[in-house]
Amino acid sequence: MSEKIKAIVIRSNDRKEKDTNVLLFSVEKGKIWATLKGVKTQNAKMKLASQPFCFGEFIIEEGKTGNVVIGFECLESFHEISENIDRYFEASAVLEILDKLKFSNNFEQAQAFLLVLKTLKSLCFFSPKSIYAINKFMIGLFEILGVPLREDKCSCCGTTAFDKLYIDYSTGEFVCTGCKTYNNEEVQKTVLAALKILRNTDFEKLGTLKLAQGSEVLLLKLLVKNFERQFDEHLKLMGVLS
Ligand SMILES: [Zn+2]
Repeated sequence: MSEKIKAIVIRSNDRKEKDTNVLLFSVEKGKIWATLKGVKTQNAKMKLASQPFCFGEFIIEEGKTGNVVIGFECLESFHEISENIDRYFEASAVLEILDKLKFSNNFEQAQAFLLVLKTLKSLCFFSPKSIYAINKFMIGLFEILGVPLREDKCSCCGTTAFDKLYIDYSTGEFVCTGCKTYNNEEVQKTVLAALKILRNTDFEKLGTLKLAQGSEVLLLKLLVKNFERQFDEHLKLMGVLS
């Protein structure tokens, strides 16, 4: 029995001489591996289905040794992303983060799918400034996963009349001077501002946005550290923060 799913290619690896395995992220089934048979020797259309970022409709059939892709229709290849090295690194970082995640329900999964699609679209078509899109992606991801970063109040006592906010990496929350503990780190005002602005700006508008210089780097470092602490995973993010 075959099944049609809408999915984004996260990564691929060679299986046998002619086959390639792809890790797909789908709305319907979350992350699944499937095999593209004979993809290296024939059928250029199927070849596209092995390229990271590619978004399409996959027809999957359960074979003896796992899922096999028996049909594919490309909806958006996002191939332009690969023409700019910075965009490529940024989009690859998005897929790396996605690869590390586990979703607890279908709703989270569907929301994350839309978020990934919007981020790739933004990187591909709306020319956002460097690392704006991945910052916005991560901010959205924390919200979807139930650990949102709120810069407008202390998450502990609830005050909005704070002079400084600190991040508590053990909970992934911002706290005020009165509530902070010894290992909480102060968050600069420009970083809090960048977080708020990015959350409230649509992906399509990122191309015209300008944040305080350097705030996007500090914000991304904070988001990455928070991600690593919350999900106990290490992120490489090659070419983005290194
Ligand atoms: Zn407080």
